[in-house]
Amino acid sequence: MRSVLTALLAGSLCLAGLPASAGTREDVASFVQPTQAGRLAALEALLKREGLAYEIQTFEGGPKGKPMQGRNVVVTLGKGQRDLLLTAHYDAEVLKDGTLAGAVVDNAASVVAIIQAAKTLGAGKLKHRLRVIFFDQEELGLLGAKAYVAGPDGGRVAAVINFDVNGYGDTPFFADPKDPALAKAVRQACLAAAEDCLAFGAYPPSDHLAFRKAGAPETSFSILPAREAHQLWLFANAGKTSQMEAGFLPKVLGLIHTPNDNMDAVDPATVERAGRLAVELVRAADRTVK
Ligand SMILES: [Zn+2]
Repeated sequence: MRSVLTALLAGSLCLAGLPASAGTREDVASFVQPTQAGRLAALEALLKREGLAYEIQTFEGGPKGKPMQGRNVVVTLGKGQRDLLLTAHYDAEVLKDGTLAGAVVDNAASVVAIIQAAKTLGAGKLKHRLRVIFFDQEELGLLGAKAYVAGPDGGRVAAVINFDVNGYGDTPFFADPKDPALAKAVRQACLAAAEDCLAFGAYPPSDHLAFRKAGAPETSFSILPAREAHQLWLFANAGKTSQMEAGFLPKVLGLIHTPNDNMDAVDPATVERAGRLAVELVRAADRTVK
């Protein structure tokens, strides 16, 4: 955790017009830990430093035949009858040798991005209650998100905006929402953030799918370099018409869930970009969804 003095200095550097990227890089790096408990501790340290009050909601999770308690971390901002959810998973993939991946591209970068968004959004008024949620056990089958949907607040979800894989690159892409009001919010937010966002009909699985099953409006956002984003679109959407060579994999799919998902892959400017986009998405969804 940084000292108050360091935080103040970082603030004044920011005001002087220098990027805060060094701090963002450190924050993402703090999640590289030997255990999931270490990642939870890193998340709690960041939330405490930023003055974001949180609760930990436990659930009975774990892979089949291996029960393991999970911990979702929930920040609640403002008031309202219905909830907008801004979400990212903080757990890491377990590698074949039993160690944890660095899991910074997937998904500590998104965790830091939505913390930065929460700081900005906390100061403004929204019609909805905003819940910024850090899900556990996504890598074991979206277990934290499924537990939340089944929990006491699962019925008051107005919309879910999930972030997964936002560690490098400049081209945002998203799971195109089936809900027209959220689809409108996504277009408005990408315009407001001056981003050329790519819509994916088929988007890789993440926590938003737990909410789709429950009928709640949902989307998920990622950022990659333009070429990789287009390759991934072809890979996920074009099937046999993609003209890709058999066995071709977009680079990102050879990076996440491997030892290569480490700080060498992370560009803090991308993390901050995702944070700014998250702010616009929440503001737009607050206007358009019931
Ligand atoms: Zn992920």
